[in-house]
Amino acid sequence: MLWVVDSEKRLPPGIIVSASSLGGTLVQDDGPGGLAYLLVDRVIQWAARQHTRSAELPDVFWCLMGRLAAHEVGHALLRSAAHSRRGLMRPAFSARDLWLSPAVDNGAYGLSVEERAAVSRQLAAPAGWPAA
Ligand SMILES: [Zn+2]
Repeated sequence: MLWVVDSEKRLPPGIIVSASSLGGTLVQDDGPGGLAYLLVDRVIQWAARQHTRSAELPDVFWCLMGRLAAHEVGHALLRSAAHSRRGLMRPAFSARDLWLSPAVDNGAYGLSVEERAAVSRQLAAPAGWPAA
């Protein structure tokens, strides 16, 4: 499940959010899935800090929301809070990562071979699944 909430205050009690986090995932122990969330107020603030031209803000915001959602769903699929050095599951994204470079074309938002294999194992992938 992916929750998109307007602020940390809307999350269920007991969820601890770091001061710099734009979202997070509570990973299930018994199977793929989890509760992923995006904090819209923080995403807006982050996007506004990166770009001074207000006309670009909607594009930056929605690009960021999509990439953050993919990252958090990645945690749920992998059943892990771990991060990689590169790719979609890296721990932090710079403005250049998220917006200023054509990152989609160079694998910056893909899963590593190991991560693809882990997702396939978690999902008991059927024959023909394009795993790794
Ligand atoms: Zn993460």
